[in-house]
Amino acid sequence: MIDDNKVRSGCLYVVATPIGNLADLGGRAIGILANVDRIVAEDTRHSGKLLQHYAIQTPMNSLHEHNERTVAPALVEQMQAGLSVALISDAGTPLISDPGFNLVRLARESGVPVVPVPGPSAVICALSASGLPTDRFVFEGFLPARPTARRARLEWLQQEPRTLVFYETGHRIVESFADMATILGAQRPAVLARELTKQFETILDGSLGELATVVQQDSNQQKGEMVVLVHGVGRERGDVISPEDEQVLKTLLQELPVRQAAKLTARITGGNRRQLYDRALALRNAIHPKGDRM
Ligand code: SAM
Repeated sequence: MIDDNKVRSGCLYVVATPIGNLADLGGRAIGILANVDRIVAEDTRHSGKLLQHYAIQTPMNSLHEHNERTVAPALVEQMQAGLSVALISDAGTPLISDPGFNLVRLARESGVPVVPVPGPSAVICALSASGLPTDRFVFEGFLPARPTARRARLEWLQQEPRTLVFYETGHRIVESFADMATILGAQRPAVLARELTKQFETILDGSLGELATVVQQDSNQQKGEMVVLVHGVGRERGDVISPEDEQVLKTLLQELPVRQAAKLTARITGGNRRQLYDRALALRNAIHPKGDRM
């Protein structure tokens, strides 16, 4: 049994903090944050509010993506000399789409013990309430901001059978849903989990096509912090195209328009014509995003 308030000297604690609701800070996390020699935070002003809420007065320094590489070596040296440090980020678990990787790696390489203090993370929080399969999932973090790179990434994930989890921002959510519906398939079940643990927490489910329409038409659904979850391709739902069928389709697509390529592939392989058409469309859109060879 770990004593909640006992802090080891010369140790790096990786402490998860709330993703919205301040009451989600665990008892052990409070004890560690109150008793380490120093807290390193992504944004000291932002984390100051959390610490103030719990009357924690531990000195704080900043460690963010721009200074992490320069700050980490000195910090590790100080930990080797006995300093106890807690790493936190603005929200959730450090290192999960947040800074800390360089510090943790260097600490471990230097023999400094790294102790996780678990708690909230938006990916797990969203997954646990999504109703989508949770036995296997892929965390994709943020999709690329540039449309071409984003579409290429989605194209790469098209045949992924595990549940897909993405972090997304309000100003890209409309474009991202539109691309997901086109490339992953408009019928795919999906979930939009917004403002988790906060006042306007909203968890919407529907097909990718339906959710794409909802976020486009309702500007409220473009606000706040959000996680998008998408059902993986599943044989049980009959929406998978075999690699052999896909190869035939790709070959024919090099010579023929989408409709003809799909029709001919269905005739050759016995595959589902509608599915092959959707897939052909996705492949063509990924290569020619403006649909110039329909
Ligand atoms: N380290 C954090 C974690 O463990 O979840 C993630 C940090 S990342 C910079 C921020 C992204 O996480 C947001 O853009 C959003 O996609 C997701 N996120 C964070 N808090 C959230 C919340 N309360 N509801 C929904 N998504 C959230």
